[in-house]
Amino acid sequence: MINLEVPRKFDQLIAQAHQAAAEVLRPNSRRYDRDEHERPKELDMLAALIDGMNEGGQMSGAGAGGTGTRGDASSNGATATDAGDANRNGSNMATLLGLIEMCWGDVGMLLAMPRQGLGQAAIAAVADDEQMKRFGGKWAAMAITEPEAGSDSAAIRTTAVYDETTGEYVLNGEKIYVTSGDRAELIVVWATLDRSAGRGAIKSFVVERDNPGLKLDRLEHKLGIRASDTANFVLQDCRVPKENLLGSAELQESKQGFAGVMKTFDNTRPLVAGMAVGVARACLERTREILAEAGVEIDYDGSGGGVSRQPAAAAEFIAMEADWEAARLLTLQAAWMADNKVPNSLQASMAKAKAGRMGTDVALRCVALCGAAGLAEADLLEKWARDAKILDLFEGTQQIQLLIVARQLLGLGSAQLR
Ligand SMILES: Cc1cc2nc3c(=O)[nH]c(=O)nc-3n(C[C@H](O)[C@H](O)[C@H](O)COP(=O)(O)OP(=O)(O)OC[C@H]3O[C@@H](n4cnc5c(N)ncnc54)[C@H](O)[C@@H]3O)c2cc1C
Repeated sequence: MINLEVPRKFDQLIAQAHQAAAEVLRPNSRRYDRDEHERPKELDMLAALIDGMNEGGQMSGAGAGGTGTRGDASSNGATATDAGDANRNGSNMATLLGLIEMCWGDVGMLLAMPRQGLGQAAIAAVADDEQMKRFGGKWAAMAITEPEAGSDSAAIRTTAVYDETTGEYVLNGEKIYVTSGDRAELIVVWATLDRSAGRGAIKSFVVERDNPGLKLDRLEHKLGIRASDTANFVLQDCRVPKENLLGSAELQESKQGFAGVMKTFDNTRPLVAGMAVGVARACLERTREILAEAGVEIDYDGSGGGVSRQPAAAAEFIAMEADWEAARLLTLQAAWMADNKVPNSLQASMAKAKAGRMGTDVALRCVALCGAAGLAEADLLEKWARDAKILDLFEGTQQIQLLIVARQLLGLGSAQLR
């Protein structure tokens, strides 16, 4: 049973994240959408502020990366329980609620926030204490996708060969679409120790961004989230110390080993779902204002003459709000389960599928409802519609989430249902 009220202890966090979104992200939204590839310098100060608040335990996870992926509710300042150990609302929930607010401000700028990359989720999921000391808190991007391996991440071809003479791994391959790949300090690179050994040989390696073997090939020009850099790399005899391999170097039983790396997604998918919830709320709020200016009031209880008699635009708005609320609740549930150490792969994929689809649908329908205002550059609605699309694509596409849900419900493995 989940409590549908957001815990009161997060009120301050939500208010602070909202204020940052309103005062720093929104006013700069259009500028960094136009000036793609220019680093939003306003974010440096905001990130420093968030760092300070995180250290003081006031704002755990208000950015993109305080993912609390160890599921430890007390790990970054959030109080562990609301009602005893049975009901934790910790760092996953805190991060999610902060993200929703920030993405109400601007998804692209949130993704461009220094030290908040999703790569930290991969590090926190498998790093040992020594690695956490070296890498924790740094800006880390995550590089899984390759030209021949997108949805099927088990098909990656980047290799890691151990060089006994130097105690280093030598990485060779190509990585594409790496969010924050140009600006981050670290890149978590997925590579295989032995392509013939299948999934169990896939490991993640932390590569310093200034490693001479990591060569930036190009930056993508994109439909949306243009404030966020998306980098393509070539890894050419890229040497990393053996201590930069995250987790065990053993080749594992394919199921067990790969399931370990995939667990990262159980924590990050609800966050991407939260991004969709945030941007869709921005669309709905703005649409409500534009409809009100046009004389369309939303009548929830029939006092304005009856729900059935109100304009079609109002009815469509109410339907969109219901869709948004359903996505929001699924997303909160998935994060709550992560905080409570309840296996949440199914719910994480359900939330990502529902919220990703809802975000795109709601944003485009808001554009349509608002007519010319929806498409004009004078308003942000058209930008939000472009920004929303990626949230139904990265961290696993809509189709892949549905496939995962189907496998789980039917009790089938990836070899049986593909
Ligand atoms: C802006 C941006 C940022 C990104 N950031 C990152 C990042 O930081 N790190 C990273 O590693 N990757 C990142 N990606 C890559 C992203 O995760 C992949 O694009 C995504 O996983 C899909 O892979 P693909 O593009 O190769 O499409 P494909 O896997 O080729 O899929 C193409 C289409 O086929 C569908 N499809 C594929 N397999 C199936 C199936 N079995 N059943 C039904 N339908 C299927 C897909 O849903 C999709 O619609 C980013 C991408 C973009 C555009």
